[in-house]
Amino acid sequence: MISLENVAMKLNGAQNIVITAHTNPDGDAIGSSLAMKHALESVGKRAKVVIDDKLPRHLSCLPDFDTIIRPPQTAEKIPCDIFLVLDTAPDRIGDTQKSFEGEMLNIDHHITNKGNPSCTYVDAKRAATAEIIYELLDIMQITLTKKIASCLYLGMATDTGFFKFANTTAFTMNAVANCLEAGVKPNEIAEFTEQKSYETVKTMAEAMNTLELFADGRAAGIFLNEELTKKAETTEGFIDQIRIIEGVDIAVLLKCNNARECRVSMRSKGANVAKIAESFGGGGHIRAAGATLNMGFYEAKSAIMAAITFALKG
Ligand code: 5GP
Ligand code: MN
Repeated sequence: MISLENVAMKLNGAQNIVITAHTNPDGDAIGSSLAMKHALESVGKRAKVVIDDKLPRHLSCLPDFDTIIRPPQTAEKIPCDIFLVLDTAPDRIGDTQKSFEGEMLNIDHHITNKGNPSCTYVDAKRAATAEIIYELLDIMQITLTKKIASCLYLGMATDTGFFKFANTTAFTMNAVANCLEAGVKPNEIAEFTEQKSYETVKTMAEAMNTLELFADGRAAGIFLNEELTKKAETTEGFIDQIRIIEGVDIAVLLKCNNARECRVSMRSKGANVAKIAESFGGGGHIRAAGATLNMGFYEAKSAIMAAITFALKG
């Protein structure tokens, strides 16, 4: 594995940087990417954020959110000095890698990252990739502006469940304190990102109606069939409503995209859900993980329930 000092040195020597993060992007993926863009631009470099997916609207308050592009479909690869992959190994960035060529650097906090060690920096102690970017900017002696700090704050807030999960550390809180010093207003960010439409809250009630307890009450799930998945503009925060159930270790949210594809999200209070996600080709962290299942709704539902029940027995 390379060091963060090494990453800093390579970025210092580059002029033109393309930044990308995982598909199905969350606050950490987008926050880390935009923080890096603002930071690099603040020292006179050119940086572009490219993500191969739809962007969640609840994150559109971040500065320069509107400048994020999908990978251009060009015959020839577009050259860049550094191709920076954040918050995932390069296997989950869609077609972005096909559009650019440049030296790859990968920064991540996922324990399941199995990227090439000669260009990868992983720190699984860090709650968010945004925390690692915070450390990196310190090494590069880049001043935290309000723009950079807002992006880093949202990344850390997202991945710690607004500083409630077990991954929240003193390091997180110190970094957050410095973001507030730089001008971030937590209430403004929370009000914007947590806002939901009336229709979404009604759909949330329907989703809650699918709630099932299983594995002797140690797991709880909500299961959205294709129709309900299409109706839900977002499922952000749904799983948090069931992870609080007394006696439940693993919470699961299943969404059915079509007859051949379902998405699963898991949260736990103790059990290793990254291991369960990996058994379906996904990954994540011990207490938060996900996977895409190439199955229809009922098949995916029974497969994930069986895997969770087995994991909780073992
Ligand atoms: P979420 O449930 O919020 O989609 O994801 C929870 C955690 O698991 C996140 O850290 C996310 O990056 C990771 N994760 C979710 N889906 C996948 C997947 O398909 N593959 C891998 N490697 N990680 C995933
Ligand atoms: Mn993350």
